[in-house]
Amino acid sequence: MRVLQRSLATLTLALGAVGAVGTGQAASVGSPGAVVSGSPPPGAAAATARTPLTPLSLCEQLARRLPNVSRAVCARAQLVPGAATSVQGQPLLQRDVSAVSARLRVLVLGGIHGDELSSTALVLHWIGAAMETPSNIHWRFVPLMNPDGMLQGKPTRTNARGVDLNRNFPTPGWDKEAPTYWAKRTRSDPRRYPGPRPLSEPESRWLHDEMERWKPDLIVSVHAPYGVLDFDGPTVAPERLGRLYLDQVGIFPGSLGNYGGVHKKVPVVTIELPSALRTPQEAEIRQMWLDLLRWTAERLGAG
Ligand SMILES: [Zn+2]
Repeated sequence: MRVLQRSLATLTLALGAVGAVGTGQAASVGSPGAVVSGSPPPGAAAATARTPLTPLSLCEQLARRLPNVSRAVCARAQLVPGAATSVQGQPLLQRDVSAVSARLRVLVLGGIHGDELSSTALVLHWIGAAMETPSNIHWRFVPLMNPDGMLQGKPTRTNARGVDLNRNFPTPGWDKEAPTYWAKRTRSDPRRYPGPRPLSEPESRWLHDEMERWKPDLIVSVHAPYGVLDFDGPTVAPERLGRLYLDQVGIFPGSLGNYGGVHKKVPVVTIELPSALRTPQEAEIRQMWLDLLRWTAERLGAG
């Protein structure tokens, strides 16, 4: 019961934090800047420029907003600005952790959906785990792929132009399939708008280009809140990571799993944490990490 109470308190706090800042943002929604050519989804925020984040200012914001992330945890991650920026000009911050003997490249992504706060929290914790765990893997962590979505008053799944980045990748037949799927299967849900064309967004374009440039052997993409593990790609899927079990949920036009795993043949592990607002406990974060390392060693030859 105590655990439940604590969880509820955390949830209330998180929601409170989101709601409190949210009021300041209301005016920007629906302003002329929100219009996306073609199909403007009503949830789109204004694509106005903001003061660019530094690693320090990002950590201050994240520590206030994310469940179970202190400034110390974020500072320890030693994020640095990558080459790419979001629609609103925010740098996509990243961190490499690598030994000289590294043979495999693994890209770990959080916060593609801006309202899945726990995904960014998990990746920040995992940067600390990677620094403590010797392996022959070159890790590249990008804890917040969609800063505009997560850092606005009320976090949104979509980016600043109202695009679901995880439907914006150039899967074969996108031009026909993605808009049709959106219109028919999601009934034009603004949270799932795939964009006017594949790679129309700087955030998804960066990831696409990074796959071409850096050629990761594995991509781990963290989401919430479905509480399962999904996998796309050429090798045997992990059965479980911590308490999450494999349950392959299907293929969507324009998703990263579909593009990376099915089309480009780069294994994509998609983690769906059980809650978007609660970060797993330390022990669970650690167990998931160890299970990921073990599976990577068995299936991809890292050790
Ligand atoms: Zn998601």
